[in-house]
Amino acid sequence: MPGATAQTIRPFLWRASKLFPDREIVSRTAEGIRRSTYAEYEGRVAQLAGALEDAGIERGDRVATFCWNHDRHFETYFAIPSMGAQLHTINPLLPDHHIQYIVENAQDKIVFVDPSLAPKLEGAFDEGAFESVEQFVMMASEVPETGLEPVTDYETFVSDFDTEYDWPDLPEDQPAGMCYTSGTTGEPKGVEYTQQMMWAHTMATLPEAGLDIRSDDVIMPVVPMFHVNAWGLPFSCTAAGAKHVYPGPSPTPEDLAHLIEEEGVTMTAGVPTVWLGLLDYLDENDADISSLERIVIGGSAAPKSVIKRFDQEYDVEVVHAWGMTEMSPVGTIAHLKPGMEDLPLDEQYEKRGKQGLMVPGLEMRVVDDDGNEVPWNGEDFGELWVRGPWVTTEYFKRPDANEEDYVENWLKTGDVVTVDAEGYVKIVDRAKDVIKSGGEWISSLELENTLMGHDDVSEATVIGVPHERWQERPVAFIVPQAGADEDALKSDLVELVRAEFPKWWTPDEVVFIDEVPKTATGKFDKKVLRDQYDDSSLI
Ligand code: ADP
Repeated sequence: MPGATAQTIRPFLWRASKLFPDREIVSRTAEGIRRSTYAEYEGRVAQLAGALEDAGIERGDRVATFCWNHDRHFETYFAIPSMGAQLHTINPLLPDHHIQYIVENAQDKIVFVDPSLAPKLEGAFDEGAFESVEQFVMMASEVPETGLEPVTDYETFVSDFDTEYDWPDLPEDQPAGMCYTSGTTGEPKGVEYTQQMMWAHTMATLPEAGLDIRSDDVIMPVVPMFHVNAWGLPFSCTAAGAKHVYPGPSPTPEDLAHLIEEEGVTMTAGVPTVWLGLLDYLDENDADISSLERIVIGGSAAPKSVIKRFDQEYDVEVVHAWGMTEMSPVGTIAHLKPGMEDLPLDEQYEKRGKQGLMVPGLEMRVVDDDGNEVPWNGEDFGELWVRGPWVTTEYFKRPDANEEDYVENWLKTGDVVTVDAEGYVKIVDRAKDVIKSGGEWISSLELENTLMGHDDVSEATVIGVPHERWQERPVAFIVPQAGADEDALKSDLVELVRAEFPKWWTPDEVVFIDEVPKTATGKFDKKVLRDQYDDSSLI
């Protein structure tokens, strides 16, 4: 008897183009809005596969993208993996030397690049990097002035090829995607996704216990497509037959508000900073975001104030999710369990503010320093370990890192968590960010959450600064809202922390700064602050 077909992503495209041929794919571009349909998309994907084959791309080759979120980038999402090659999305916000390292490490053969990002790539290219790259393809209909070579434009690259392609049957373990972790510690680590992992992640995020993605949804991924495949949304949105809205290069809160209003976006997703920006914009401007039903927030903890404001002022549900590059990336989602809708609102926000429940298909373990599992009492801390069909079990060419981060098929996440009696995981901190004061742990994340709840605080971060007596003490860095009175704010913040935490959690110092340094994935870069303030001069 012939076996069942392999778990690969191409049938998602087949289904969308046959069952939802008229559903739209909308993209914001420098020239305005561009629209197409799944029926047209299928033809374009076939043309791109033909062009890649003609350019010499073979099964297992890596093809990179250096792009924002737009329709052409989305075409690479199905064309590259479905012809048997590997889609390697590069984060253009990384420093040049990381980009050079990544392209060299992955041995990318073709790089698709946005015209607006080309100067960034040229910086790295000029120094003789990218020996493996045989062709640059500019994501445009003509080639702008560039030092990258050989180069062609996307429309010329695909134009001669047929809108049908003879897709190969691929095995499940065929590498299909690749993404490097941002490397806040050491060199970036390559993470590979097989066809089966992408299939499994898509199937897990579609249903209600996942992200509840439906064909009548209009989905706008704000999370960049270079960041873990925009959390898999381009795939799950296609599998569901939903409408896609891509916000293009560097969207502002105003761009996002317009797209929500004009395209009727029902669901969007991104890191907390984006939504803080949108709330600020909505405070000052009229925009109708009534079509919006839910925002998936992840990457960093969703502040409770954001969850509450979207719910109470805009009737938008924040779906708080946790994940990692190594997990394709979704791991937990903070849905309420049956009956919890009847809890007082504050208790509901408390649950939604946690990182949530494991998605079906995954298993977890929370272990203390001695390797024992900690009880699910919402209090005891431990490191979260996970395993499952879309969790990686090794890094690309990095046996040294494998030893640190994997135990058999368990991924040691490096996140320190509690689990409550109902199974809700709460990230207490990154193992490396936890502040150890006098042998006890202080969660920098919880302090930040509270500090960010103050109206006059735009951003807040807390780090541990070396201390002779206590080993480490917390210091808070605050970006105040314009016009805030710093003295009054300082005493307010101390009060806020005292009201909620033990006295010894109070930061020894509150420092006002203009901006919190950020990593390439938009997270607070505590390493930079630590380097600046490592001499205990503050306390
Ligand atoms: P990096 O480790 O380079 O930041 P990722 O982008 O893969 O790479 O980030 C994964 C990490 O981001 C998680 O291990 C966790 O610390 C943090 N994270 C992700 N989602 C959340 C969330 N909802 N709340 C708090 N932290 C989160």
